[in-house]
Order: sequence, then structure tokens, then C-alpha cells
Amino acid sequence: MPTRLFDEVKNEITTILSNLIRINTTNPPGNELEAANYLKNVLSSEGFDCEIIKSAPKRANIITRMKGTGKKPSLLLLSHLDVVAANEKQWSINPFGGLIKDGYVWGRGALDMKGMTTIEIMVYILLKRNDVQLKGDLILAATADEEKGGINGAKYLMENYREKISADYVINEGGGHGITIQNRTIFTIQNAEKGIIWFKVKTKGIPGHASMPDKNTNAIILMNKVIEKLTNYNPQTILPTSLRMFLEKLAINNPQLIKSFSDIIANPPQSDLILNKLAEHYPDLVTEIRPRVKTTITPTIIKGGLKENVLPSECETTFDCRILPGQSSERTLEIIKTLLKDIDSKNIEIEILQIQEPTVSKVDTKFYDTIVSVLKDFKPGCGVTPLLMTGGTDSRFFRRIGSICYGFQPRLLEKSSPRIITREHGIDERISIRNLVFGTSVLYEVVKQFLC
Ligand SMILES: [Zn+2]
Repeated sequence: MPTRLFDEVKNEITTILSNLIRINTTNPPGNELEAANYLKNVLSSEGFDCEIIKSAPKRANIITRMKGTGKKPSLLLLSHLDVVAANEKQWSINPFGGLIKDGYVWGRGALDMKGMTTIEIMVYILLKRNDVQLKGDLILAATADEEKGGINGAKYLMENYREKISADYVINEGGGHGITIQNRTIFTIQNAEKGIIWFKVKTKGIPGHASMPDKNTNAIILMNKVIEKLTNYNPQTILPTSLRMFLEKLAINNPQLIKSFSDIIANPPQSDLILNKLAEHYPDLVTEIRPRVKTTITPTIIKGGLKENVLPSECETTFDCRILPGQSSERTLEIIKTLLKDIDSKNIEIEILQIQEPTVSKVDTKFYDTIVSVLKDFKPGCGVTPLLMTGGTDSRFFRRIGSICYGFQPRLLEKSSPRIITREHGIDERISIRNLVFGTSVLYEVVKQFLC
């Protein structure tokens, strides 16, 4: 069956997204209830029964289900309703104005991920309007709180309403967009996520008058050593399966990439040198690869000192550490503790804030093959690759119970670029109307081919 673009829903989908962006769901505090209510109206007017599940005051998730005959597996179209903060002063337009201009819908969440929520809803509506009979259940869930770890969203639903949202397969955020390597489009399907360890290090010193300094008892100077030690730590290179597949797909027809990538695979300890050399020609691509072959440890918040002339007795720094599939948080923390012990064991404390182990979904599935085949119908000659994501998404909760989850927000590149994350969480976030139509059309076809 030939694939086609649903150009006729252009205005409808643009309006839904614009309205959704106008509901400010910056998390914290979230306030996703209003967005969930809006979507309930949209879906109810199309004849769907929706359920709004509140997890806290003004925090809500919306779920609806299209029953299949049970002859095929179930599929969940997942998205989150909350967004990260936007500093209006840095934007050229109001981030919560829902502006439609120059072929784009502008605003916080356009890419991450209200655009995808809208696409999933449109797919849902179109399946019903076209009277498509499904053999597997299709569930739609737009949740709260993803940007703060899903405690009031996916995690809450998983703990309290698992039967309502669990599915054999899940489509979520994290991949789907095309990247270009030498004029060739390669679409990504996110099948793995690095694990997260958020921790805080506290250093202690002795307070006193700053006119009589002592380098050995100053909490800030000690913290300086901590930061230096942890950020200079050079972990071993690891090449998870999805990364190997990613490198292979990127390198097709490119002798220089083929040579560099096979050198890395043959000799992981040399990866820094090989990547440095490759960066001379492919700086953006190397920026994407580096955090995918190693553990990263990055300071993100620092607090210390009380007054201009008082020696600081305390300093604390929060670190964001990301580990690869195959690594464990337990072992990584041991390494971190050993590194800190080398500096000073008495005046350094470590506090764990959050731990999420890495997650992976296999790619030798019929569902993965369906996505690849639909993409090739829409964009003949394109490449498709699994993607290991450096960040985390709600997919982790579903992978833990055995669901196969793919991050797949089908999107053509607005501008030729090998970068994977571009304007998500950034200034002047926007999505083209062309991509809203493309995303809807591709996802519609994927769902139809997989569930019919
Ligand atoms: Zn997101």
C-alpha cells in the first residue's frame, strides 16, 4: 500500500499543538491537569472515553485505549505533558504564546514533547475516523512530571495503575529524527538509555577570618580538588551493541568513517586519540559519539561560602553522572568514592540524590522492522539506526517490566545537521508544520501496519 502524507490535517494538528503550548506546564510545578483536561476535550469530541488520573494537586495524566481483537500485541503511544522552564528574556517570542509563524509552531515543548503528544493524538483520531480495525490494543498516555523523573507521572502510573498503561511495545521520545551524514538521511530509533547517578559532594573546612587564610582548611579549595579529580577521571571506553550498530550505519559508504570506527572497535583504549583525529573533519559527529562510549561525570550546581571575609566551612556540588548499558551504578559509585578518598577521607561526604540504571530494548523485533520499512517507504534510500541516548526518558519504567520501548518521534531535519539533539530545552524551540504532518503520517502507517 503506498504511503501518503496527511496534508489535510495540517490546520487541525497545528491548532492542537498551539493550544497545548499555551497551557504553561513548566515543571516545577507542572500543572499538567489543565493540559490533560484540554486533551480530554479534544479526544471526547472525537468519541473517545478518556481517563484523567491525578497524582497530586494539579498534576494529572490522561489515558485512553482503543481495543483490538487481541490477535496482535499491545502498543502504547506515550508522551509527557510537562516542559522545562523557559527564560522569556532570551527568546525572540513568548515561549508560551503558541505562535504559528513562517511554517512553524513556536514555543516551549514544541519538540520536547508536546509536538509528539499532538502527533500521537492525531494518529489516534485518524485511525478512528478511517475506521481502522486493530488486532492489538492501542493505548495512548500523556503523563506528568517526566522532566523531574516521572514521580507524579509514569512512575506513579506504573506503581498504581499498571494494568492501564502497560503494553508489549511502547513508542516514546528520544529518537526518530533524521541526521545527515554526507547528504544521506539517517533516522534514529532510540532503543537504549544511559543510566543516571545524581549525587552531591559536601566538603568541610574550618571557618575563620579570610584575612588569615589556610589552604588546608578551606572548604572551597577542597571542593576545587574534588571537581578536578572527578572531571579529569578518564573512564574506560565501552562499546554497547547499539553504539556499534549506530557507528556501522553512519559509516556506510564513507571510507574515513569506516576506518576510524573499526579502529575504535578493535582498540577501545585508543578511542580518545582516534576521535580527536576524526574531529578535525567531523566535529559535530564526534561530539555526539564521545559521551556514548564512556561514563561522564559533570558538576551542575555549586554552593559555598557565606560572606566576603569569612573562610568557608562548607561547600557542596551536585554532579550528574551517566553510565552506559552494561555498567552498574553500584560499581561506578565505588570508583567515585575511591577517587574522593585519594583526596581526603575525613572532610568529604557524598550523598546520593537519584539513581536510574541504564536500560536497553532489543532491536531484532518485528516492530523495529516495521518502523524501518515505513521510513524507507516515506524516504527511499534513507538509513535507519538504533540510538543509544545519553539522557533518560520515561521509557525506563516500561523497559523494567519487559516492554520493548523505542524512542521514535519521526522528524525530518529542518536544516542539514549531524547533531542529534538541537533545540530541545533550548531557546526559540519550534517544530515545522511540515514535520507535524510527516510525523503523523509516518506514525499512522507504523501503527496500522503493526496492529492490523
Ligand atoms: Zn521529553
